[in-house]
Amino acid sequence: MKITRIETFLVPPRWLFCRVETDDGVVGWGEPVVEGRAEVVRAAVDVLAEYLIGQDPLRIQDHWQVLTKGGFYRGGPILSSAVAGIDQALWDIAGKTYGAPVHALLGGPVRDRVRVYAWVGGDEPAELGEQIAEQVEAGFTAVKMNGAGATSPVSTVSETAAVVARVAAAREALGPDRDVAVDFHGRFSAAASRRVLAELAPLHPLFVEEAVLPEQNHLLPGLVTSTSVPLATGERLYSRSEFLPVLAAGVAVAQPDLSHAGGISEVHRIASLAETYGAQLAPHCPLGPIALAASLQVAFATPNFLIQEQSRGIHYNKGADLLSYVVDTEPFRFVDGYAPRGDAPGLGITVDEAAVRAADRTGHAWRNPVWRHADGSFAEW
Ligand SMILES: [Mg+2]
Repeated sequence: MKITRIETFLVPPRWLFCRVETDDGVVGWGEPVVEGRAEVVRAAVDVLAEYLIGQDPLRIQDHWQVLTKGGFYRGGPILSSAVAGIDQALWDIAGKTYGAPVHALLGGPVRDRVRVYAWVGGDEPAELGEQIAEQVEAGFTAVKMNGAGATSPVSTVSETAAVVARVAAAREALGPDRDVAVDFHGRFSAAASRRVLAELAPLHPLFVEEAVLPEQNHLLPGLVTSTSVPLATGERLYSRSEFLPVLAAGVAVAQPDLSHAGGISEVHRIASLAETYGAQLAPHCPLGPIALAASLQVAFATPNFLIQEQSRGIHYNKGADLLSYVVDTEPFRFVDGYAPRGDAPGLGITVDEAAVRAADRTGHAWRNPVWRHADGSFAEW
């Protein structure tokens, strides 16, 4: 079997899909994307495709080595995400060729269903209680929310109080048996995070995410020891070597993104690395159905798995949503806040190719907003 064609599709709301075709007629799908830089990843996939055309798609590990290391310059979000999407497609092809779901090829399932959480609130959420009640009604047992919008480098009393009040409102709506995770999104300085974490601790968040920016992860050891709140990070880390120091720092939850951190191959290895540090896996995935399907396959085969992000109804999904490009929505029919385990081969989903090709004709040019502080200076989004 040989790879004969690799195509990419720029589809709303902000995604990029890739389709890998073989001379046997087996087709695999992947989602190589960096949100806001999808066109750049598309160009990277085109360059990597030069090597792959004519190759045996089942040599996933060898292709991963060549694609990540063979260009001499390595790493970073663009290249790692391009490799990630191709890697997903190759695993999809492998599963379809061997007649097995990817989680079976990774060693077999270790759980029957995968806990997922829902997002509540945009960046300036209002009526949080009402939104949480909706998700609880839909069966979810956990939600995630942003800690704050644009935040001062050293937060004021009222900024700190606002974060705590919103998380307290969430805890009130959820009760003691459901979870709230809080995403700081790298908007807080380490000093602000330390202060806010102390006040959030009594509210028992499931975890607090990106308490500092990835480039300040060298401050994590101090933050970890300063709080009882489990700290999470990883959506902006792209390899085992980038996860190693944060795991050694004692973060409780590793959040690699299946579409950023080298795909199924590398996230499976990151999960094993996290296990040696007693950390749990909670993959980042505010993305489309292929990235989520890949995430679920890893979750079914990972012992130290905590919870999975998913994008259904997320505030970013304008013009298309999680179910817009799949023929069978069953893999994403969440029951009591869990995704079911299927036994369909490969990634376990059937992509609606006609819908994808039609959407690509429209395309998108999604960009994240650029925020400013009151004094006009740049603010982290
Ligand atoms: Mg996040």
